[in-house]
Amino acid sequence: MYISLQHLEVKPVRFKVEVPAGEIDYDVSVTQASQLNAEGTAQLLSRSLGEIRLEGKLDVTMDALCDRCLESASIPVNRSFDLVYMPAEESRSGEVEIDQAAIEVGFYEGSGLELNDVLREVVLLSLPMQVVCSEACKGMCPSCGENRNLHDCGCQPQPLDDRWSKLKNFRTEDSPRN
Ligand SMILES: [Zn+2]
Ligand SMILES: [Zn+2]
Repeated sequence: MYISLQHLEVKPVRFKVEVPAGEIDYDVSVTQASQLNAEGTAQLLSRSLGEIRLEGKLDVTMDALCDRCLESASIPVNRSFDLVYMPAEESRSGEVEIDQAAIEVGFYEGSGLELNDVLREVVLLSLPMQVVCSEACKGMCPSCGENRNLHDCGCQPQPLDDRWSKLKNFRTEDSPRN
């Protein structure tokens, strides 16, 4: 759905969309696992500055790889958003002042906003820094690479001081003149 300045100049635009998985291209590490539902309102805050405010909420389930075991992990995203978009040219003039720190600000090019681009951004900003399939995930074995949630490979943990003892040997071999 394209939200054009032309429409916003007449009246606020209400949106309610159901975006099927596959329509929005996120990036290689996350995929949309369910339909994305979003609804809200877009309005022109300032006609002269071209500031567009988008308020709404969305819910979707995303799939990402667990940081510990690299299996797929399900991430439910359910949040409201309140964003202000300004024309990209305004940002270059350096005279933009944002009073409301709570509101996130983005920029748009041309004569309006593609709603899917906004939703993509909101989803990506909502993803946790660390993705885990479950808090109890045991991760991969650093020795054999086995997923320890599925099998107990029985590897002994690596001694922690291994690299330091190697370094010590290297030093003694390499510095006979001292
Ligand atoms: Zn995991
Ligand atoms: Zn192992």
